[in-house]
Amino acid sequence: MVSLEDLQKVFRGEIKISESLSQHTWIKVGGPADYYLKPSDREDIINVVRFFRDCDFPYLIIGRGSNLLVHDYGFRGAVINLEDIMSDIRVEDDTVVVDAGVWISTFVDFCIKKGYAGTEMLAGIPGTIGGAVIMNAGAYGGEISDYIVEVEVLRDAKVVKVKKEDAGFAYRNSGFKNDVVLSASFRFPKKDKDDLMQVRRELLIKRNAAQPVNFPNTGSIFKNPEGNFAAKLIESCGLKGKRIGGAMISDLHANFIVNVGNATAKDVFELMVLMRNEVFKRFEILLENEVLLVGFSAKETSMLTELPSEINS
Ligand SMILES: Cc1cc2nc3c(=O)[nH]c(=O)nc-3n(C[C@H](O)[C@H](O)[C@H](O)COP(=O)(O)OP(=O)(O)OC[C@H]3O[C@@H](n4cnc5c(N)ncnc54)[C@H](O)[C@@H]3O)c2cc1C
Repeated sequence: MVSLEDLQKVFRGEIKISESLSQHTWIKVGGPADYYLKPSDREDIINVVRFFRDCDFPYLIIGRGSNLLVHDYGFRGAVINLEDIMSDIRVEDDTVVVDAGVWISTFVDFCIKKGYAGTEMLAGIPGTIGGAVIMNAGAYGGEISDYIVEVEVLRDAKVVKVKKEDAGFAYRNSGFKNDVVLSASFRFPKKDKDDLMQVRRELLIKRNAAQPVNFPNTGSIFKNPEGNFAAKLIESCGLKGKRIGGAMISDLHANFIVNVGNATAKDVFELMVLMRNEVFKRFEILLENEVLLVGFSAKETSMLTELPSEINS
């Protein structure tokens, strides 16, 4: 364990001890992190990550926690929240450079006002640029990586720029899982601002009608299997509205689990296992998590990565 005294020698930002992560995840569940850090600036982030690496102390970078399910026991280590830290967007020649802590919605707004086309479909995704790059977030046929030129990351304690072709972007995936995303650079085609605004408006209406936006949730629980839709498969198993404790499979969108009141991570996890097992039993399709599990044991995680046990045996 790293002592608070040693941490304070290298870190200038805010430090909280045993901070409940339910306050920092979109679905409002999750136990405490040993340390919860809000860095002061970019230099603070780099210093503290290098320090944790040198001490071999576990750390987790988060943005808005909109794609995370944190265990009820929490996270043993330090959670470093970059939301709103490094929150600058600048235009350098024909390139837009955006810091990792900027909200996706702020970035989309900026791009539309400048007439840069290609982010309108991301409106309504409640994350930061860092989280979106890590997840290669996307919707309605577009992905954040579409117009990325390069990504600036802290990798193996060094700040490096990674060109898009070396970034390993794939469906809800990237090659940055062991890095800290510091900023991303984009080059967009130009379009009429009013047209872009109209597209965003229509897509937001569509999104709000299709998703349970009035309850805390994590967005899509599972990735869509090739040529199919996770929501359609789960709905076909009759699971819409199924409830465990305070968690419920949304009756609006079957690939969402909503926190209908004091849900625990265990409630959500058990529903995820049920959804995956039922879909496999009925369709022989293994769903892959989109939501990321934090603080879960290898045994628990295997219940969402391996063949369901009753079928396996
Ligand atoms: C209502 C709702 C709707 C959603 N709709 C969509 C959608 O349409 N499409 C879609 O793709 N996703 C969607 N999501 C999921 C989620 O919003 C995205 O994955 C988003 O990009 C996550 O950003 P975040 O900042 O919240 O990341 P977090 O959830 O905080 O973290 C996600 C991952 O990124 C890592 N991370 C975050 N920031 C950094 C950084 N700077 N450096 C290194 N690692 C980092 C974390 O460690 C974690 O592994 C939705 C979620 C909700 C709740």
